[in-house]
Amino acid sequence: MAQTDLRQDDSQLLMDRSVPGRVGTQLPALDVPAQPLPPAALLRHDLPLPELSELDVVRYFTRLSQKNFSVDTNFYPLGSCTMKYNPKVNDTVAAFPGFAALHPLQPEETVQGALELLYRLQDMLQEVTGMAGCSLATLAGAHGELAGVLMMRAYHLAQGDTKRKVILIPDSAHGTNPASAAMAGFRVASIPSDAKGNMDLHALRNAANDELAGLMITLPSTLGLFDTGIQEVCSIVHEAGGLVYGDGANMNALLGRVKLGALGFDVVHLNLHKTFSTPHGGGGPGAGPVCAAERLAPFLPTPVIERVPPAAVPAREDTVTYRLGAPGRSIGRMAAFHGNFGVLVRAYAYSRALGADGLRQVSGDAVLAANYVLASLKDLYHLPYDRRCMHEVVFSAKRQKERGVRALDVAKRLLDYGIHAPTMYFPLIVDEALMIEPTEAESKETLDRFIQVMRHIAQEAVTSPETVTGAPSSAPISRLDEARAARHPDLRWKPRTS
Ligand SMILES: *Cc1c(COP(=O)(O)O)cnc(C)c1O
Repeated sequence: MAQTDLRQDDSQLLMDRSVPGRVGTQLPALDVPAQPLPPAALLRHDLPLPELSELDVVRYFTRLSQKNFSVDTNFYPLGSCTMKYNPKVNDTVAAFPGFAALHPLQPEETVQGALELLYRLQDMLQEVTGMAGCSLATLAGAHGELAGVLMMRAYHLAQGDTKRKVILIPDSAHGTNPASAAMAGFRVASIPSDAKGNMDLHALRNAANDELAGLMITLPSTLGLFDTGIQEVCSIVHEAGGLVYGDGANMNALLGRVKLGALGFDVVHLNLHKTFSTPHGGGGPGAGPVCAAERLAPFLPTPVIERVPPAAVPAREDTVTYRLGAPGRSIGRMAAFHGNFGVLVRAYAYSRALGADGLRQVSGDAVLAANYVLASLKDLYHLPYDRRCMHEVVFSAKRQKERGVRALDVAKRLLDYGIHAPTMYFPLIVDEALMIEPTEAESKETLDRFIQVMRHIAQEAVTSPETVTGAPSSAPISRLDEARAARHPDLRWKPRTS
């Protein structure tokens, strides 16, 4: 007798599980008049919908969902992305019908509570960044960047200063920075980092001339470092007549400790979908508010929520306190409506629950966790910048590479231990980069286990490198041809021809 494989076959697609005649629902007999069908030319009879029971469908999708890697199930130290655990209560609050069921075109007097929440959030983010104004309208970090650079452009043009066409960007910046500057029509010039990972001040001075529109700097940098020359950097740019843009996507390193405005920044964006209770992964939605210093605040994107002085609208005095405003020289709208409201509600709930002390503790814990990992692994993994890091630490798998084990292999091997890969090959200035962000949310036990696993993999790279280069061995599929998956995605099911 032929041997049958009794193991459950998870590889079969839902569509291929169809059994002719099987149904998942039963509709009652029609008790309303039948409506005419659309014209015959619009109807198709060849749609091969699968025939399945409800249970077939539920099991299929539930099992599929269990293959997802998530912060709710496993440690996720993906550098720069801040995949931290966020309290569920913030999701609950965002789902309150009074928030979730609002319509963006509702009259202002019927959404005063929502506008008040946005107003208070603007206020809080101004406090966090040390800025004079804030717009919550932008929908992602890169979107906030684009708004910020467009504001810089509008500012120079408003001064009649048409020569300023260059934006300087350090080589340790996030990749979206040069993209945003180019998109806003600027020429981008790169400034190298010095041996310590700070911006090379000499190179900056040489580049700061009257064509300079400004500098975009990620702080902390993608090396996970706080540029200790930052105040000097800001003065050099200002003296040349330029503006300083701060990429504050990783504010969890600085919360309650450093105000970017006080350091000399003119405009910054934050990633609420990193620091403020919405995870960055999963493709959205996000929120990348822009905060600006006094001289740039009039250029903020629309809307900015305003508090109406009671006397200003006497007739509506009792109903309208908050309204959607447009700053005097606004660059205009960056998106339809008023931003990703659900993400903004989460950020507000999160900040209110933590309070100023709690937010300060977030950055303290995030930085402590990263430095703990740094100190516990630097004997086995090369540390290109051997100094105290901020919320993330960048190692290089350079030593492992000598034995044929690359950063990618280390990352894949971590999956076998139920740990998400760190960010790899980024920042570009570090060879074989492994960028690890443990986040403030993880316990010491989790960090200790991660450290043990990383140490074990370093040992494997010496004793049995093929175990590492062949990883993952426990995942449903091993290594994908990622280039092919991106170039020739196979997204459409077609019935098998018999
Ligand atoms: C994540 C990140 C961005 C981009 O944010 P998106 O919301 O993905 O567009 C920009 N800069 C830095 C430093 C980041 O970490």
